[in-house]
Amino acid sequence: MKRTYKYRLYPNRVQDKALDFLLWQGRNLYNAALEQRVKTYQETGKGISYSEQWAHFRDERNANPETLGKLNATSVQQMLRRLDKSFSAFFRRLKAGEKPGFPRFKGRNRFHSLEYRHGSFLTQNRHLSLSAHDAGLGEFRQLLEYKAENAGSQVVTVSPRNTSQVCSGCGEIVPKKLKVRTHVCPACGLVEDRDVNAARNILVLAVLRLGRSRQALTRMQQGLRCLRSRRL
Ligand SMILES: [Zn+2]
Repeated sequence: MKRTYKYRLYPNRVQDKALDFLLWQGRNLYNAALEQRVKTYQETGKGISYSEQWAHFRDERNANPETLGKLNATSVQQMLRRLDKSFSAFFRRLKAGEKPGFPRFKGRNRFHSLEYRHGSFLTQNRHLSLSAHDAGLGEFRQLLEYKAENAGSQVVTVSPRNTSQVCSGCGEIVPKKLKVRTHVCPACGLVEDRDVNAARNILVLAVLRLGRSRQALTRMQQGLRCLRSRRL
């Protein structure tokens, strides 16, 4: 099940500027992707696949770290998928003998949202990061508690200390800077997304904090290992 949450942000001036910049970059990327599709269609009568466009704009992102590179990969993929859908509809109408127009380019105020995977929006953008001093964090916590209660679950807070550095596979400390997004353990060979590795450590800490038995912890770790091997 996929749930969508909307957060109301009350950005300060610096955050506001950072958001504006991201929305502007998002609009640029969307328009460039649309232009690429329109041109290809006009020149060859054919479409471009989502994966071709993603390969192209992934390279563009990497080549322009200060502009397009500021956009999170998920939000870029989301935009390209949206465009892919619009073009499928375009080709469907064409096939049915209609004369469809191209999807529209986005103007200054027509681009309002970017999709972000939970948390990464705030953590990837320094100016937007939540700290314990922000009112936003308390509100977020309340929302989380409300949601957990609804799901018959519980929110447990743990100290974030070292959670991104410790290997969730073997416990070895693997120091890495924030820009290193993949956890690679020299001791046990575990390769995992940085955030996923940290999430597993946080889960273990939470279970320990609840005082669950060691067996419960072992069962949970087995479950995680099983999930991990299924994904490979
Ligand atoms: Zn390890």
